Amino acid sequence: MALSDILGQAKPIELLKKSAASGRVASAYLFHGLSGIGKRQTALNFAKALNCAQPVSTAGQTDACDACPSCRKINAGVHPDVIIIEPAKDVIKIDEIRQLIETLSLSAFEGRFKIAIVDEAHLMNDRAANAFLKCLEEPPAQSVIILVSSSPERLPDTVRSRCLAVAFKPLSAAQVEDILKARLASDAAPGASARGRKKTAAAHDIDTARLARLSMGRPGLALKGELPGAGGEDFINILSRMASGVTQPSWEDKAAMASFLDQMELFLRDLLVMKATGQPGLLLDPEFEKPLSQLARYVPEEVIIETYGNMNKVRGALVYNPNKAIIWNYMACLALKLNINKIASKGF
Ligand SMILES: [Zn+2]
Repeated sequence: MALSDILGQAKPIELLKKSAASGRVASAYLFHGLSGIGKRQTALNFAKALNCAQPVSTAGQTDACDACPSCRKINAGVHPDVIIIEPAKDVIKIDEIRQLIETLSLSAFEGRFKIAIVDEAHLMNDRAANAFLKCLEEPPAQSVIILVSSSPERLPDTVRSRCLAVAFKPLSAAQVEDILKARLASDAAPGASARGRKKTAAAHDIDTARLARLSMGRPGLALKGELPGAGGEDFINILSRMASGVTQPSWEDKAAMASFLDQMELFLRDLLVMKATGQPGLLLDPEFEKPLSQLARYVPEEVIIETYGNMNKVRGALVYNPNKAIIWNYMACLALKLNINKIASKGF
C-alpha cells in the first residue's frame, strides 16, 4: 500500500507526497484525528515513500513503489531504519522512548531517513514525554518523528508545538463502504489466506452500507470489528440495568466500558436526530428505532446535548483508569436524566 492508496485523506496525502518529492521534510509531525481513519497507515506509507528504492514521481509528488526491498521490509515491520512505538497496557513508558532516541541517533543503515512512528502518542507518561521533548528540541540529522494521536489535546503543549500538525478527517459513508467492499473482495481473492477467505465466507451477508453508517467515517473500526452497534442487545440490557438502579457494574474491563461509551455516543446522536426530524430513515442504527422514538417524546433537546458533553468527559477520563463503580453510577445518573427508566419499565 502506498500513500495514493489511502482513501478520503486527499489533503494530508498531497502534503506528504510533495514533501517526499522536494525532500523538505519536517523533523516531527503530529497526525491527529479520530481512531480508525488511516493515520497510522499513512505514517507507514510516508516512511515507505521517504526510503523507497524506486520511488514513483509525478507532477511534483513522490510516492512509494510498495514493491522494492525497502518497502517490503516496512510492510513486514523489519526495516532497520523504521521504528514503531506502541502503548502497552495503555501507556508508553520511558524505556520505549529511550529506545527510540537511541535508534534515531544512529545513522541510517539502509534508508535515507530514520523514522520513528509513535502510535497513540498521548499515552506517553510524564517521564516518557519529558525524555521525548529533548529529542524534539534537538532532532538527530535525517530523522523523522511521526506522532499519531486520536487525542492530541492530551499531549503536552511543549510537545505539540514542536510538531507539524496534519489533520485527518472522518470519511464519507460512501468512501467507507468502498473500503469495506474492497477489503471483502481482497479477502475472498484466490491468493488470500485461508483465514481471510473463512472470514469473508462468514461475513458473506454483511450489510456494508449499514456498517459504513455505523462507522461514522472510521473504516478502521469497521474492519477491526470494533463498531458501536455490533452487540446492540448488550448495550440496551446495560442501559436497562443502570436505569433500574442496579449498582453492580456490568462491564468486565475497561475495553467493555469504552465500547459501551461508543455505543452511547451513537445512541445519543440518533436520539437527537429522531428528536429533530422524527425520521427513522436518518438513524445510523435503525435497530433502536422503537426506544429512540419513545425517548424522543420525553427528552428535551438541550438534555441530550448536555448528556453528550458529559459522556465525552467520562470517555476522556478513561485514560486515567477510573473506578468502574464511580463511572457506572455517573452514567446511571445520565441515563436517568434521559428518562431511560420510563422506557425501560415498559420494555424496549
Ligand atoms: Zn519502494
